[in-house]
Amino acid sequence: MRQRAARDQKRLDSGAVTSPKDLENLQREIASLAKRQSDLEDVVLEVMERRESVQERVTELTGRVESLHAKISDATSRRDAAAEEIDAEVATVTKEREVIAGTIPADLLKLYDKLREQQGGIGAARLYQRRCDGCRQELAITELNEVRSAAPDTVVRCENCRRILVRTPESGL
Ligand SMILES: [Zn+2]
Repeated sequence: MRQRAARDQKRLDSGAVTSPKDLENLQREIASLAKRQSDLEDVVLEVMERRESVQERVTELTGRVESLHAKISDATSRRDAAAEEIDAEVATVTKEREVIAGTIPADLLKLYDKLREQQGGIGAARLYQRRCDGCRQELAITELNEVRSAAPDTVVRCENCRRILVRTPESGL
């Protein structure tokens, strides 16, 4: 288009075109080409501006993706460390339980395991301030009297939930 305008301008400047009608047509074409060029330049400018804003957005989103990746990696390593700690604790507790279970009479252990299965994982509960820590029920006076008079090695159980009650100095007896 620029070439065409230059060629037209050259023809106009050369004086080769003499007819007034031809001159007018040439001038009109030159003006129209200039207008089109200006319009196209506006379009180019607009496209460049849009490209710039898209690039800015890409940069921003890339930054966010990188920051999320860093967060994920951090959370993953913390999760892995916690899982390792939990595994180690499970191993320790399992070993401790085995040692303790070995010192408990077989029939008592059997009763405990049965109750544990029936009572959501808790087979024995502390008797704390006259209350069963398993079901949170306060023991009745007669029940408390029975527990109080029972020999220290007698297995006492909660009337309400049937769990084995563990007596301590804080039992309120
Ligand atoms: Zn109970």
